[in-house]
Amino acid sequence: MTDRYAVIGNPIAHSRSPQIHALFARQTGEVIEYGRLLAPIDRFAAEVLAFREGGGRGLNVTLPFKLEAFALATERSARAEAAGAANLLAFDGDRVFCDNTDGAGLVRDIEDRLGLRLEGLGVLICGAGGAARGVIQPFLDAGIERVRIVNRSAQRALELARVWADRRVSGGGFDEASSCGESFDLVVNATSTGLAGDRLPLEPRIFPGASLAYDMFYAARPTAFMLQATGCGCPQVSDGLGMLIEQAAESFLVWRGIRPRTREVHEAIRAELSAVQR
Ligand code: NDP
Repeated sequence: MTDRYAVIGNPIAHSRSPQIHALFARQTGEVIEYGRLLAPIDRFAAEVLAFREGGGRGLNVTLPFKLEAFALATERSARAEAAGAANLLAFDGDRVFCDNTDGAGLVRDIEDRLGLRLEGLGVLICGAGGAARGVIQPFLDAGIERVRIVNRSAQRALELARVWADRRVSGGGFDEASSCGESFDLVVNATSTGLAGDRLPLEPRIFPGASLAYDMFYAARPTAFMLQATGCGCPQVSDGLGMLIEQAAESFLVWRGIRPRTREVHEAIRAELSAVQR
């Protein structure tokens, strides 16, 4: 029987993961099926169980179930433990292994595709939700020297920084990004403002000194955060499509033991996004 995988979430119709994994499978010669699974909000665990009992080998997990996926696992990777959330499940008999490949995906996209080495840099992370939490340890592991988290609710950023109890990680409100007098090499948008297209309350002076402004949100056109950063003089901007593709490649590696090449997949999915927009 063909090994079956899927991405589970709610909503899920928009997910590009099936196309990405189909391209990985074709490229590597792995024979797999990868679909979409819409789980009712209160039935995540039941849907996972049914998929597993039906012979499913693994799931990618997206909003709003990453915490539940972490909770139901019987074994957790160090990356999932650090993130407190999981975007990947792998099934083997009674074993339910969980991992979190989001942070590794972001690091790889920034270092390999965008060419910015993270070692020794200072980073400003806007947002203190699940995506922000998932990238902090991978950033520190990549040698980032300072991580400042700013958030609409300053208290949430402070609490997130406290999880690390590490002098390199600090948190506060958006106003502190400007008043602290620090400069940042990398500015990351990990808020969920992408869809609404809201600008972040950051002082323009934050951007010209940064080498890269990275939006985790992605779209067919430059995002509001990318336009904000470019308009304020940031020399390089990116949306989060590369992060999505790299986290998927990392998932494929965990499940199949093979790391697919991502550059050509990135180009194909970008072209598909642009075609839909036209
Ligand atoms: P969460 O819901 O966990 O967190 C949302 C964050 O956005 C919070 O910090 C929240 O602040 C902030 N926020 C919401 N509205 C506003 C606003 N109007 N102004 C300022 N801040 C706001 O979401 P996630 O962390 O899971 O996801 C964040 C983003 O990252 C999403 O766009 C998601 O699509 C993207 N993402 C991309 C991935 C990729 O592979 N490219 C992977 C994972 C996520 P507060 O605490 O004050 O409410």
